[in-house]
Amino acid sequence: MFNSIQRQLMAWQAILLTLVVVALGAAFYLRVRRSTLEQVDADLVGAAQSLATSWSSVHSPHGLAVPDAFRHRMGRGPKETPYFLIWNDAGENVAAEGPLPPELENPGRPPEKKGPHPYHPQDRGENHEVILRDDAGVVVLVGRNLQRERDQLRRLLKWLAAAAAGTLALGLCGAWLLARRIARPLEQMTLAAEGISPATLAQRVDVPTNRNEIGRLAGVINGMLDRLQQAFERQQQFTSDASHELRTPVTVILAHTDDALAQDQSADEYREALAACRRAGLRMKSLIESLLMLARSDAGKLIAVDEVDLSPIVASAVEATAHAAGEAQVKVTTQLTSVMVRGDAARLEQVFVNLLSNAIVYNRPRGEVRVQLSSDHGEAIITVADTGIGIGDADLPHVFDRFYRVDASRSSPSASSGLGLAIGHEILRAHGGQIEVASQVGQGSTFTVRLPRLK
Ligand code: ADP
Repeated sequence: MFNSIQRQLMAWQAILLTLVVVALGAAFYLRVRRSTLEQVDADLVGAAQSLATSWSSVHSPHGLAVPDAFRHRMGRGPKETPYFLIWNDAGENVAAEGPLPPELENPGRPPEKKGPHPYHPQDRGENHEVILRDDAGVVVLVGRNLQRERDQLRRLLKWLAAAAAGTLALGLCGAWLLARRIARPLEQMTLAAEGISPATLAQRVDVPTNRNEIGRLAGVINGMLDRLQQAFERQQQFTSDASHELRTPVTVILAHTDDALAQDQSADEYREALAACRRAGLRMKSLIESLLMLARSDAGKLIAVDEVDLSPIVASAVEATAHAAGEAQVKVTTQLTSVMVRGDAARLEQVFVNLLSNAIVYNRPRGEVRVQLSSDHGEAIITVADTGIGIGDADLPHVFDRFYRVDASRSSPSASSGLGLAIGHEILRAHGGQIEVASQVGQGSTFTVRLPRLK
């Protein structure tokens, strides 16, 4: 029943308000009641003292009356008229006045002294009395009906109950409105979010106009949906690109095997068909390895972390590509210093091999590649600069995208997949590093890698 925020807020508000209102009302009522009774006591004691003094001075019941000052405060109604009785020091009743309660109409001995004080209060039915014993042994009892005060207190209690009920109702209405303002947009967001599926990933939840916490939450959910949609679209694009790339070598294999099966061929022709199938197989193998690496990178499992020196890693990449450089008549020069980083030597070498291979493949004959490794401001900086064909401004922002090739016709069809730089980018990102490129068409390109350096 209390599984909605609205109901929980209402329940809490009701409990808290009830506790506060009841506690405050009770404290107020008890305080008023106490001060009323204290005032009644004080008036009765004052009247009793005054009567005792009068008796002591005249020793006659004649002319004894509760003084006006007290009578006025005790009330004017006939019921509120005070009554009094006086006993002399011998214990004889010497005066009795006012609307005496029946049991006091024949007073005997004076009441016993109770408590340490010279006077003590007591209730008699609806009446309240004070009994005073003065130093000379004279006992005075003054009392009166408390109906008026009791009625007043009852009225106060009703008024307080009504005020408490009103406050409670008002508080609950406020809580209900507030809870609704919080819960309603949340409910709408929940419904909207529930309706979002891969097919409706472009839908967004409504953002309330005022930018309170709920507005911000809606903004955050929409931001998250934006990222999810992008990731989902990237994933779809990736799957379709990967299938497309894998289809080419499969088509080659099928074409060659179909040909070979269709008619008898010479041994050389079979050998040629098998060699073509092998090349297509190798291409598929390299593609599948690249795809696996990207999948591992997406799952955050790309690198093993060691403390490694970049200098031998870069040197090893240069050596691995030396043969290709020789064939393409490209001169590779290096300038390396020892810089320690935290990372995976094999993966880092893979990045530099790819950068060097590209710098060689997309170079011109008798071109140059300069490889530099240095450190600056806590970073290892590796640049691979070539004197090749360069990359146009429109293509530059995309060269790190998966399957992006600047111009398929200029790439070597067997080696190029458009995944090398994307994988390099992922490997460097997993190392906390980055890669950027500057290029001019016809002049050459410079790839710059930055990695956090170990102190
Ligand atoms: P590929 O396997 O096609 O080389 P990459 O991801 O390594 O894939 O490179 C993506 C594209 O960027 C390449 O197809 C190429 O057109 C372009 N490119 C990469 N490096 C260079 C370079 N040094 N000079 C000119 N173009 C380059």
